[in-house]
Amino acid sequence: MLKIHTLGGYNEVGKNMTAVDTGEDILVFDCGLYLPAVIDLQETEKRPTSKLLASAGALPDDSFLWKNKDRVRAFLITHAHLDHVGAVHYIATKYPKADIVATPFTIELLKTLIQDSNIILKNKLVSIKSDSYYMVKGKNTEYKVDFVNITHSTIQSTIIALHAKEGVVVYANDYKLDNNPVIGLPPNYQKLKELSKEGVKALIVDCLYSGDERKTHSEKIARAMIEEVLLTVDHGKNGIIISTFSSHIARLKSIVEFSKKLDRKVIFAGRSLAKYVRSAEKAGQYPFDKDIKVLGYPNQVKSALKQIDKNREAYVLVCTGHQAEPGSILDRLVTGNQLPFSFRPHDSVIFSSKVIPVPVNQANRAAMDKKLRMKDVRIFDNVHVSGHGGREDLRDLIGLLKPEHVIPSHGGLDKTTPAMELAKELGYKYDKTAHLCQDGSVVYIN
Ligand SMILES: [Zn+2]
Repeated sequence: MLKIHTLGGYNEVGKNMTAVDTGEDILVFDCGLYLPAVIDLQETEKRPTSKLLASAGALPDDSFLWKNKDRVRAFLITHAHLDHVGAVHYIATKYPKADIVATPFTIELLKTLIQDSNIILKNKLVSIKSDSYYMVKGKNTEYKVDFVNITHSTIQSTIIALHAKEGVVVYANDYKLDNNPVIGLPPNYQKLKELSKEGVKALIVDCLYSGDERKTHSEKIARAMIEEVLLTVDHGKNGIIISTFSSHIARLKSIVEFSKKLDRKVIFAGRSLAKYVRSAEKAGQYPFDKDIKVLGYPNQVKSALKQIDKNREAYVLVCTGHQAEPGSILDRLVTGNQLPFSFRPHDSVIFSSKVIPVPVNQANRAAMDKKLRMKDVRIFDNVHVSGHGGREDLRDLIGLLKPEHVIPSHGGLDKTTPAMELAKELGYKYDKTAHLCQDGSVVYIN
């Protein structure tokens, strides 16, 4: 019998972690942070300890793993977003014999997180290409684990398929079905069909937007939106400042390419941008010209801003702060916090992002927008397409995989209930083959 423990990301959007207990061995999918709690903490603590993070509710609860610590064999990480990988070093350090397996971009990013935290991690870090597999050694069994290429809002994202004696357990957190990604390949439909043929026992699936009756648009649509806002709006000699998710390498690629058509130089500024762009470079995925400046250190950023302030028509500044995070570059530009740049009327701020609907982000952004308006800055909000599938993506994914059991994840009941309704529509039975979980639930599968 398989037991699926839904440890994090079922009461909230964040700190994703799910463990599969085969009876002998435990394999863990994802190990992420609850970011709103981290943002709150960062206002007072520069480098929060794992104890502080845990008491703030930023880490998934690993007490089940700790009770069974000798049976934890691997942490299998789907992609490089912090709500999936950001807690690995805080938690996996307690299980040093468990391998940590992910695609190269995620591993490179994790290395920077480890370095920044000062944690010494003894676990083996395994960097594995998309569309390949890893064998996890159990007590008496070896488990084949596929890392299947999937489209999302960061590069080298995967759906993970664990081949257990009872059948395949597929973990699809996060995904959308995008046949025209700006970087990388479309989803590996062929492999998903093969898994279905083999027999998918359970599907643990991202249902963040399962309540939205739509198919999520392709990243090529976001690219067209960037093109429109940069090339069809008359920016004249005014400043252009863009903020997007630092991990969204494909979006950054579109921003760079259309900025160049404006004959402006592009500067990336901010620590997390530098971190993700450098990780992409190390993972062999650097889709930018060599003349792009990537500035992570405060002194570098300051001297670049001095240049931009004097000669704003020559630059596009791409910076951190689309959620108005305190201390981000955009936040400091808006509040005038010791940076040598001041907004002028008709400068543009483009948010290639959506406000993450949690109170701390909503409040921060509302305050930022108000300040920008007072300076007569033009705001272009929501120049963005999500990386999460809608209800119709979910229907198609379930149709492709034909799992025996569906376990909606990536949010509380408001997010998981619509996915349960869809499952019911598709013939699944509440509590028997479709499972509404919360953090700490256990699903038993024969
Ligand atoms: Zn994600």
